[in-house]
Amino acid sequence: MKIILAQPRGFCAGVVRAIDTVERALEKYGAPVYVRHEIVHNRHVVESLKAKGARFVEELSEVPSGAVTIFSAHGVSRKVENEAKSRALPTIDATCPLVTKVHNQGRRYVAQGRILVFIGHAGHPEVEGTLGQIDGELHLVESVEDVEKLPIAPDAPIAYVTQTTLSVDDTRGVIAALNRRFSDVEGPEIRDICYATQNRQTAVRELSRVCDVIIVVGAPNSSNSNRLREIGEEAGLPSYLVVGGADINAEWVKNAHVVGVTAGASAPEILVGEVVQALMRIEPSEVSDLSGLKESVSFRLPAELLS
Ligand code: SF4
Repeated sequence: MKIILAQPRGFCAGVVRAIDTVERALEKYGAPVYVRHEIVHNRHVVESLKAKGARFVEELSEVPSGAVTIFSAHGVSRKVENEAKSRALPTIDATCPLVTKVHNQGRRYVAQGRILVFIGHAGHPEVEGTLGQIDGELHLVESVEDVEKLPIAPDAPIAYVTQTTLSVDDTRGVIAALNRRFSDVEGPEIRDICYATQNRQTAVRELSRVCDVIIVVGAPNSSNSNRLREIGEEAGLPSYLVVGGADINAEWVKNAHVVGVTAGASAPEILVGEVVQALMRIEPSEVSDLSGLKESVSFRLPAELLS
């Protein structure tokens, strides 16, 4: 059996920045610091930050007065920002700059008098944050069927923005449906979408050409990891999402000659290593990296942590 690792895989620049933000805040202000929502969707990351003194909460009401509070990489609504302001909580915003870019783009479209259509998954924290950052007429769509049901006149000026964990390929069908139904549609340039989402999806497609089984390392609530697994499945391969090495089932690779492994944008490389070790325990295998794009994107830490 051979094991081939997708390239690129795992941590993106937004996730690295969010984790660094919590670590630097702990160094600068001392423990505990509070983080609203999982800083990124990965239990291993959350547990290791907890061990260093971070406390994770879902609501600001759980944060004691005066405690340093970090907003997660997914972003938050204005309501949450205002609640923090009204309680005078010292906040640090770890929202990924590419998510903030979507907020700004959406606001620009609304300022131009357009009705905004947001393509994303209902209930995801990034979607809730984005919907709560933009005033004006806003509609969330997940599918072509949702586009057909939009209560908007066909000649109304509309614009769309997309959840960052959806790639160009994911949104193509919905955007085509918008263009069919409406005569005046604006959307962002392709270069505005999240590079990491697109690159990881392209890499898993490449991987699926050379292997028999796909294993994606990522959390069950990680939207981009689930999408990587689906892409493996769309390529006709048995594809599994695992949290770490303990989830590997020998049956999955029983007849496989080549096992492809990748990781979602919030999954640390240490868990990829665990998965490879678990596969090697089933059968000693040659491990190699698929050639692919080398990423060099990095984001500056929030200003509060730079001084
Ligand atoms: Fe930012 Fe993209 Fe990473 Fe999301 S996947 S945190 S948008 S770089």
